[in-house]
Amino acid sequence: MPAISSHKPYRVGRSRTGLGLFATRPIKKGAKIVRYFGPLLDSRKKKDDAIENKYLFELNGRWTIDGSIRKNIARYINHACKPNAESDVSVRKRKVVIRAIKKIEPGEEINYDYGTDYFKAYLKPIGCKCDACEKKRKKKRAEARAERLRLKAKAERKALKKAEKQAAKAREKKAQTLNGKPTQTLNGNGKSRHVNGKPLNGHGGKSAAGRIIAATSGIHVPAGDGQGGENRASA
Ligand SMILES: [Zn+2]
Repeated sequence: MPAISSHKPYRVGRSRTGLGLFATRPIKKGAKIVRYFGPLLDSRKKKDDAIENKYLFELNGRWTIDGSIRKNIARYINHACKPNAESDVSVRKRKVVIRAIKKIEPGEEINYDYGTDYFKAYLKPIGCKCDACEKKRKKKRAEARAERLRLKAKAERKALKKAEKQAAKAREKKAQTLNGKPTQTLNGNGKSRHVNGKPLNGHGGKSAAGRIIAATSGIHVPAGDGQGGENRASA
């Protein structure tokens, strides 16, 4: 037996879900890895039909292999949705062999698809822990995280835009009130009066000119008298 076991290309080891079967040597695609074996249960026998465990391998409607025995090393092989091995079932021989469907490297966990019935009954309720499903979950989580970050960034951009808009509005309002008050003071208060005051001074000039006019008219008055005299003189 030890000689045979040393030829076996696998060992039982720690896996994600507990124990698993791992390759210790490269296994070629199509190579038989291990037989899944145990007592044959006949569903027509009440005693057999009452047996219930996780290692029942149904061959057909009647025959089932009870793989829960310790010698059945294949029972350590875990399920995978994208496996590197398959269960090769010969119903006629009532024999199951686990066979590699791709090259398996040393250290790689060996797994096969348990089938939809097992998946629905045992794996779906607790969530499949195979690499493919873990990867899918990881991807989904990463996508959800990215989506959350995207939404957060969007909300932040929106808030920033709003704040900028409000700030711009506030600046505009301030500018309006700043421009508004001086024009009112310019028109209403002193400066316009100063402006009016200057023309008033200018009017003073005009009045000075008026005084000149008055002076000339004052001169004219005597000249008028002279004119009269001239007229008299000419007449
Ligand atoms: Zn899976």
